[in-house]
Amino acid sequence: MKKQKALRKHTITQWTLLPIMIVVVGLGWIYPLMGYVVPVVMVAGIVWSFYNGRYVCGNLCPRGSFFDRLMAPISGKKPIPEIFRNPWFRWSALVLLMGFMFYRMALNPTDLNHIGYVFWQMCAITSVIGVVFAIGINARTWCSFCPIGTLQMAIGGGRDQMLIDPENCRGCRICEKACPMDLEIVSHKDSGHVNERDCLRCSKCIAVCPKDVLQWPSDDKAA
Ligand code: SF4
Ligand code: SF4
Repeated sequence: MKKQKALRKHTITQWTLLPIMIVVVGLGWIYPLMGYVVPVVMVAGIVWSFYNGRYVCGNLCPRGSFFDRLMAPISGKKPIPEIFRNPWFRWSALVLLMGFMFYRMALNPTDLNHIGYVFWQMCAITSVIGVVFAIGINARTWCSFCPIGTLQMAIGGGRDQMLIDPENCRGCRICEKACPMDLEIVSHKDSGHVNERDCLRCSKCIAVCPKDVLQWPSDDKAA
């Protein structure tokens, strides 16, 4: 019951946040100051990652919410290709995209509208890439190499990872089917914790596990 309530809250939060992404991408080229929503989400994700890994990606990012709610139902639901998880690929994507963004900003660094426009432009370009991959592969494909996700993964992906009870997990993999990041869960069961730095802390796997063997360390303390 508690799990279902948490899932409902997560769903409502995402439906509330996803219009932000649609409005910013749709209107930011006319009103460039709207582009400043982008650095707000970027900074929030990075700061929060010191405490709880990629929590913002999984719960509060408007684009992540857009992928989960609107793209997932029409996605190809294929496995996310390993190349997108490769550290070389991810860090190269980060350097290229951030480099391009700062280069564009440096062309007119004192004009607030120009800076806002560059933020909008980056958001629009990467959203188009994300939507193409979402439809063709998997809704959260973009999130497996999003530069801000990569930073969050590096900073706090190892903090307070999910616990798994090795004795009672029956290996049915229902949890893995529910995971938006297509992460391995069962293969970690012998260690007792799910060592996946890209976990989005969305708790979807916890909600569907029929054996109730998944939980966060904080749930353990609260019990
Ligand atoms: S859904 Fe639960 S019982 Fe099934 S494999 Fe995942 S953790 Fe184990
Ligand atoms: S492992 Fe669980 S909490 Fe982490 S992203 Fe997958 S479904 Fe969400």
